[in-house]
Amino acid sequence: MSYKIPDNKLLSFIIKKVIKEKKVIKSQKNFLNYVLEELRSSGIDYRLDGKRLRKIAINDLKLKVDIEYRESNEESKDLKICPVCGNKLMDIKNLTLDGKTVFTGKKCTKCSYWTGLKKRIPKKYTFYGDGEYDKQKKRKYDSS
Ligand SMILES: [Zn+2]
Repeated sequence: MSYKIPDNKLLSFIIKKVIKEKKVIKSQKNFLNYVLEELRSSGIDYRLDGKRLRKIAINDLKLKVDIEYRESNEESKDLKICPVCGNKLMDIKNLTLDGKTVFTGKKCTKCSYWTGLKKRIPKKYTFYGDGEYDKQKKRKYDSS
């Protein structure tokens, strides 16, 4: 059987529709399943992976995302590309008292990803629809 790769325009449309309906989606896998379900309701066998979905959601549609991390034992020094959104990382440098610069980690030029000397690896994503992120934060604040 042949399959199709959805173009960015179609994907953006479906992603917006899904996040509007679900409001908050608590994992990338769930998000992917919802989007695929929606795409395939047309009867066409669409293929999509989570990474592409995530990049469009964050880069193009500016969805708010919460990310849980685990710290690895690998150094972050050689990390060039953001593991969340695929954009460039920049070095975080601090000035010591005697005027030397020391490398303390990296941060993304586009999204909220940052890491210290040990690489932080994204573990779990939560995606928020329009306005939902602020609502959730407010709720947390109110109940504490
Ligand atoms: Zn990023």
